[in-house]
Amino acid sequence: MSHAVPAPAAPEPIESAPALPAAAEIPAPHCLNCHAALHGPFCAQCGQEHVEGPMPVRAYLADGMNTLFEWWDDKVPRSLWVLVRRPGLLTREFQAGRRVAWLLPWRLYFLVSVVFFLLVNLLDPVTTASLGVQDMEAQRAEAMNRAIADMLPALLLGVVPFFTIGVWGLHRRRHPYYMQHLAFSFHYLAFVFLAFSVPVVVRAAWLWNVAMLGIYAYLVLALRQAYPQRAGAAAARAAVLFAYFWVLVLFAMVVGLMVAAIRTAVG
Ligand SMILES: [Zn+2]
Repeated sequence: MSHAVPAPAAPEPIESAPALPAAAEIPAPHCLNCHAALHGPFCAQCGQEHVEGPMPVRAYLADGMNTLFEWWDDKVPRSLWVLVRRPGLLTREFQAGRRVAWLLPWRLYFLVSVVFFLLVNLLDPVTTASLGVQDMEAQRAEAMNRAIADMLPALLLGVVPFFTIGVWGLHRRRHPYYMQHLAFSFHYLAFVFLAFSVPVVVRAAWLWNVAMLGIYAYLVLALRQAYPQRAGAAAARAAVLFAYFWVLVLFAMVVGLMVAAIRTAVG
């Protein structure tokens, strides 16, 4: 690879360059986001912090902003739009080292999951229709439901690192670092929450099936974008990951049920 450094006015989303190695291959003294020459740890042009190595943990934390609460700006709608319209592109941008233009993967995930759980609690309250029945069983079931609902965000967050093991396992030959794949998981699961918000809001049962098909199709497209591969290979990998994802969700639910049972028994 030559050392030619293009100098676009604003970075365009990459289309065909190899996704993962880019961050490591661009010579160090240039900003990975805007290619400006660096004279310190932060880029003078765009403010992105320069982090070395293939995909260090710090890349997930550093985006040139200081606090958690400064991040509601035009990045939010822009990132959400690209997340929906261009499966895998945000992951590829992140892996290529262009971070300041978009919400960080975990922030995007948290934003979408928080909104999702707010929607679920507003529109589909856990307090079930068992109110008329005053027996112990109904009260117990309600307490269980509430305990599970309380734990759901934590349980699903717990799914992320395990799902990443699956993504890593399927692509580790070309992309050997586990951390490289964490961004894919955050982005994909953020889309899953978005897709499931639709049946929650519209309250139509058949839309759950559409959402299920949608998140599988999205996974195929996202894998092809983030890890360039043929359609057949992406479809097969997506099928494996999809099944693995639901096994993880099921496992998380079993753990949730057990903890909830212990809690309601104790409390
Ligand atoms: Zn820069």
